[in-house]
Amino acid sequence: MSDYICAVCKRDLDDAALNRVGMQCTYCGSRIFYKKRPNIRKRLLAR
Ligand SMILES: [Zn+2]
Repeated sequence: MSDYICAVCKRDLDDAALNRVGMQCTYCGSRIFYKKRPNIRKRLLAR
């Protein structure tokens, strides 16, 4: 499961791919990423 998306080539990058090259896109060499937001919704407290 990937946590980041490359800002240049828009590919999914998982943590393993990023760690291998030290926060650099393995496809295009970009160092700009978007962090994917896991689909977590804040719980509303219904009180
Ligand atoms: Zn890239």
